[in-house]
Amino acid sequence: MKKEAEQKIPSGKKIIFISLLLLTSLFIIAFFVFFWIVPVVGLSNIHPLAPLILGIIVLAIISLVAWGSFSLVLNILLKRPLFFSNKIRGITIKFFFPLMTLVGEILGISKEKVRSSFICVNNEMVLNEKHNYKPEEVLILLPHCLQNSRCNVRLTYNIENCKRCWRCPVGHLLNLRDEFCVKMAIATGGTIARRIVVENEPKLIIAVACERDLSSGIQDTYPIPVFGILNIRPYGPCVDTLVSLDKIIWTLNRFI
Ligand code: SF4
Repeated sequence: MKKEAEQKIPSGKKIIFISLLLLTSLFIIAFFVFFWIVPVVGLSNIHPLAPLILGIIVLAIISLVAWGSFSLVLNILLKRPLFFSNKIRGITIKFFFPLMTLVGEILGISKEKVRSSFICVNNEMVLNEKHNYKPEEVLILLPHCLQNSRCNVRLTYNIENCKRCWRCPVGHLLNLRDEFCVKMAIATGGTIARRIVVENEPKLIIAVACERDLSSGIQDTYPIPVFGILNIRPYGPCVDTLVSLDKIIWTLNRFI
């Protein structure tokens, strides 16, 4: 079983995330300052108070962006929830992450790196909330590619069809599900994953997937907290993937 220290964010990923976050915030602030300054001359011709009103609106937006990024950086560095920190995860997922992907692309940072840093920071924020859950409130959501590609049983609608023949991680994961009494399901894509979440109404999702599916899953299921675990791809993406059972056990022990 992994020690807690091993689950902390690798500093490289943290640096990528914080740098992109600060750059994104600067771009947004510069945009709004520009948006404020340019029309001020024209606005004063409409009404003498118009530039002041626009200035107050722009200042409020700038303060919000600066507050959001500052709180998020503190949250990451101090590893504990801060003021209004329950809103910070939402702001990161819905607002900063999509813009950071764009800024990362402009700077030539691969999407995979940005997504990976986002998943790590998201996990840290979910951990920082320090919630414990009842086993029945926890759903482990698995990708279809964990199933052995030569296995013919159909697991998407009923994971119980697995014969636990140990040719792939699904049987071992089912043993863990039974041991911890949590829910578990396999999804073949985003639509089925969303349906599974709606049907099971989990309070916490432990999701296993690649960077792309995990980051979109975290966005889709907000405000439900998602703890993401990256799958291992010894044969390339989407075929006969693996997952660290130690990480799953550590996560279950941490949240239940
Ligand atoms: S463990 Fe289950 S899913 Fe994996 S190969 Fe065996 S029967 Fe198929």
